[in-house]
Amino acid sequence: MKEFDYIILGGGCAGLSLAYELEIYNKLKDKTLAIIEPREEYIRDKTWSFWKVSSHNFEDCVKKSWALFNVKNRYGKEIKHYINEYPYQAIDSGLFYKKVLNTLKKNKNISFFKNTNDINLNKSFIFNSFLNIKKFKDDKKNYWQHFLGLEIETKKKLGYWLGNNEYNTNEFTLMDFDTVPNIVKRLSEINFMYVLPIDEHKVFLETTWISKGGVPEDGFKYAPYSYQILEQLRRWSIIDNPFLGSDEEVDDRIDKLMKGEGSEKFKINYREQGAIPLFHPEYKRIKNQINIGSVGGMTRLSTGYTFLNIQEHSNYIMKNIDNISEAKIFEQNKKYLFFDKIFMKVLEKHPEKMPEIFFNIFSGFSKSIIKFLSNKSNIVEDLSIILKMPKWTFIKGLFK
Ligand SMILES: Cc1cc2nc3c(=O)[nH]c(=O)nc-3n(C[C@H](O)[C@H](O)[C@H](O)COP(=O)(O)OP(=O)(O)OC[C@H]3O[C@@H](n4cnc5c(N)ncnc54)[C@H](O)[C@@H]3O)c2cc1C
Repeated sequence: MKEFDYIILGGGCAGLSLAYELEIYNKLKDKTLAIIEPREEYIRDKTWSFWKVSSHNFEDCVKKSWALFNVKNRYGKEIKHYINEYPYQAIDSGLFYKKVLNTLKKNKNISFFKNTNDINLNKSFIFNSFLNIKKFKDDKKNYWQHFLGLEIETKKKLGYWLGNNEYNTNEFTLMDFDTVPNIVKRLSEINFMYVLPIDEHKVFLETTWISKGGVPEDGFKYAPYSYQILEQLRRWSIIDNPFLGSDEEVDDRIDKLMKGEGSEKFKINYREQGAIPLFHPEYKRIKNQINIGSVGGMTRLSTGYTFLNIQEHSNYIMKNIDNISEAKIFEQNKKYLFFDKIFMKVLEKHPEKMPEIFFNIFSGFSKSIIKFLSNKSNIVEDLSIILKMPKWTFIKGLFK
């Protein structure tokens, strides 16, 4: 049985961020670390985006950043925010994995394993990011944010389809509630489009849903993700209406389009699909073990943002590593945990109100909103957001 000073269970975002932080601050010079990760190969599988409210180690993995964004409500009303101080950054996970692994592989004290079969887990301090919860598709109890994102490349410039004034590569759409065709409009599920323009030919389109487990079924093969994506392309006139004809014809057409076939006008460069748990998995303090990443409660439940919290947690562990078994458990500031708890109760009770509640959050000052959503707001900024919420709905949320 092999023994190590530290073991990281899960070489994903949190596990690798932590290992990298320990390595660059020389905490692994005379300590051994094992990283346990079952995946066969590291490829780009996620785009981690966030407002850069604090520094991080992965500036060189940023695919693109934006200072301007908009939010659109169900009726097409739009709010724009410009904020240079806190750019919105999108990290390419492929670049992240490459950078971190290249660095870690140079240190002989760091070893990689696919499982824990030959490792003595009892002699080490363990940082755990293994998920031990019901999978998204089987979970009818908890809320998840789930999505399908496609990077689409068009032959002609996107400005040609959308009008040069409409398509601005420097402005992204955080939430567009006005893109759902009636066929999938249901009040108990919250859904919106997230649109990141990459350059004049490339755009990342993500259909995002908040619901309890399982992709909602509509009786169509690819519904509802494909409907929202294809409807967006139809509105932009990149494709004709794909939903006309017999069920078989429609299924066949959708099947092809979602694979990037069946149209000369665009192709699909990259696809990501996933689900973020909008609940914090139960955290039992175990001696010599700390949970990190999603399992460690690093997700902001009202937004799904996790990446920067993971970086802060890694930094905290690095600073306390010499006395880690005695260190206080790192958690998000209690005021955000409290707000999000009420927010999730309101979401459960009044899903139909959520698009307007999200929209209202964005009706204030850019800086306050971003700091509030990124766990960095002061009391005045907190109040400026909270006062925009429907008061009775939230007060009732306190008691139920
Ligand atoms: C597609 C996607 C996009 C996201 N986009 C954003 C974003 O834009 N901004 C943001 O802030 N957050 C985002 N998130 C949320 C969050 O930042 C990511 O989920 C992040 O990867 C969480 O890091 P983690 O280390 O906890 O989990 P992971 O990165 O998933 O790493 C966990 C690792 O452990 C392994 N593992 C897990 N469970 C087990 C097990 N039981 N047995 C063996 N191995 C196991 C997995 O193979 C994985 O490599 C996104 C999440 C997803 C899924």
